[in-house]
Amino acid sequence: MSTEFDVVVIGAGPAGYHAAIRAAQLGLKTACIDAALGKDGQPALGGTCLRVGCIPSKALLDSSRQFWNMQHLFGEHGISADNAKIDVGTMVGRKDKIVKQFTGGIAALFKANKITPYYGFGQLQPGKRVSVKQHDGSVVELTGKHIVIAAGSDSIELPFAKFDGKHIVDNVGALDFTAVPKRLGVIGAGVIGLELGSVWKRLGAEVTILEALPDFLGSADAEVARTALKEFKKQGLDIKLGAKVSKAEIKNGEVQLTYNDGKADQSLVVDKLLVAVGRKAASKGLLAEGTGVKLNDRGQIEVDDHCRTGVDGIWAVGDCVRGPMLAHKGFEEGIAVAELIAGLPGHVNFDTIPWVIYTEPEIAWVGKTEQQLKAEGVEYKTGSFPFAAVGRAVAMGEPAGFVKVIAHAETDRVLGMHLVGVGVSELVHEGVLTMEFHGSAEDLARICHAHPTLSEAIHDAAMAVDKRAIHKVN
Ligand SMILES: Cc1cc2nc3c(=O)[nH]c(=O)nc-3n(C[C@H](O)[C@H](O)[C@H](O)COP(=O)(O)OP(=O)(O)OC[C@H]3O[C@@H](n4cnc5c(N)ncnc54)[C@H](O)[C@@H]3O)c2cc1C
Repeated sequence: MSTEFDVVVIGAGPAGYHAAIRAAQLGLKTACIDAALGKDGQPALGGTCLRVGCIPSKALLDSSRQFWNMQHLFGEHGISADNAKIDVGTMVGRKDKIVKQFTGGIAALFKANKITPYYGFGQLQPGKRVSVKQHDGSVVELTGKHIVIAAGSDSIELPFAKFDGKHIVDNVGALDFTAVPKRLGVIGAGVIGLELGSVWKRLGAEVTILEALPDFLGSADAEVARTALKEFKKQGLDIKLGAKVSKAEIKNGEVQLTYNDGKADQSLVVDKLLVAVGRKAASKGLLAEGTGVKLNDRGQIEVDDHCRTGVDGIWAVGDCVRGPMLAHKGFEEGIAVAELIAGLPGHVNFDTIPWVIYTEPEIAWVGKTEQQLKAEGVEYKTGSFPFAAVGRAVAMGEPAGFVKVIAHAETDRVLGMHLVGVGVSELVHEGVLTMEFHGSAEDLARICHAHPTLSEAIHDAAMAVDKRAIHKVN
C-alpha cells in the first residue's frame, strides 16, 4: 500500500477528523493517524471529545439529571417517585454504548470517505514525513504534501496530587466511578469540575469544589456567574473560592487534602478526588528533531490565524494550538485548513465561538462580556430578561436565570449575548447567528419568536436594550 498522501492528519479528535473528512471530500488522498484505544482495548477514533470528554460527560449529565429531577422536581408536578434507586453500572454502561456508537461512527465515515486510518503514535519528521509506531510495534512511514497536526490535549496533573486512577483521578476516572463516592473533592471550578461535580452531586455524593481563584467563572459575564453560583449552592454543591490546595495524601483509602483559604490552612477528607485544573497541549514526543515546527512556553504548537505553523505545508489545529479548548473550535479549524489546502478560502471567526457549560442551570455566551468592553473602553448598552417571566420556562418549572444582550451604544450592533438558565446551550446560537450576520439588537427585537418558547427571553432582552421590553418594567 502506498504511504504517500496529499494530506496526513495526526490525531482523529474533533479537529483532526474534521480536517481529514473535509480534505477527502475535496478529492485529496488522506490518511489519519490516532493512538487512542477505547475501554475495550480496541482503537477508538474521535479523540477526547467522543471517548472521555464532551459526549460521555453529557450522557452522565443527562442520566444524573433524570435522577435529580425525579427526587426534586417530580413532586411539584404531582408525580411521586419514591424509592428511586441508581444502578451506576447501568448508567456508565449506557454512556459507554453511546461512546462506542460515536467512535464507530467516525471509523465508518473514514471508510465511506476513503480515508486511510493508521492506529498508533505519529511523530512528525523533517521533510513532511510522519513515522507511525503502530499498536503491534511495527513502524510505518507516511509522507504528505500537507501534514495537519491535531494532537489535542491531556489533563494537567498537579505535582502533589498524582493520578492513581482510583482515588485521585482526572476526567477519565471520574466518568467511570463504579459507585457514587460518599465524598467527592474537586480541584478546579472550571467547566470540567462543575460538570462532573454536578453529575456525582445529583447522584448523591457530597461534593466540595476547591477553586484557587477568588472569582467564580472569571471569564463569564459577572452577573451570569453570580446567578449560577447561587443556583449551584442551592443544589448543595459546596464551592470554596480562594482555596489553594497544597497537599493531597492517600491514607486508609481516603484522600486527605490541605488547602489554604486565605486565612489559614484547612483540611478536607474525601473518598475520591477529581483534579480538573485544566488541560495542556499533547505535544510530548510529537516532533522529531529538525522539523522546524515551534512550541510556545505552554507546549502549544505555534500557529498564525490560519493555523499555519510557519513550516510550508505543516498546519496545526484544535486543542494543541492557541485559543479555547473547545471541540467546535477544532471542528472549524479542521475544516478551514482542509479548504485552505485545497485552495479554497477557509476561515474561522474566533469572535463568534460560543461557550457552553452544561450544568443546571446551563451557562452559555458568545462575544464580549461587560467586563471586557469596559476594559477596552467600548461604549455599550445592555438589555436583560429573566426566565422567571417567560411562560414556557415557568411551565417547565425552570424559572432560574436570564438572557442579557449587549449592543454597541451607537451602532446597536450586538457585541455579546450571555445566558444562564434552562436550554441556553441551544439558545446561544441565536446570538452567534446575529453576530455572524453583524446584526443589531433592533434586528433581534424585530424577529418574530414563537410563543411560548424559551427563545422569547432573547426577544424581550433585545427589546430591553432600548427599554421597550413588553413583559417587564423597563
Ligand atoms: C470531561 C470533558 C468534557 C468536555 N466537554 C466539552 C463540551 O461539552 N464541548 C466542547 O466543545 N468541548 C468539550 N471538551 C473539550 C473537547 O473535548 C476538546 O476541546 C476537543 O476534544 C479537542 O479536540 P482535538 O481534536 O483538538 O483533540 P482531542 O480530542 O484531544 O484529540 C486528539 C487525538 O489525537 C490523538 N493523538 C495525540 N497525539 C498523537 C500522536 N502523536 N499520534 C497519534 N495520535 C495522537 C489522541 O489520542 C486523540 O485521540 C471537554 C473535555 C473534557 C475533558
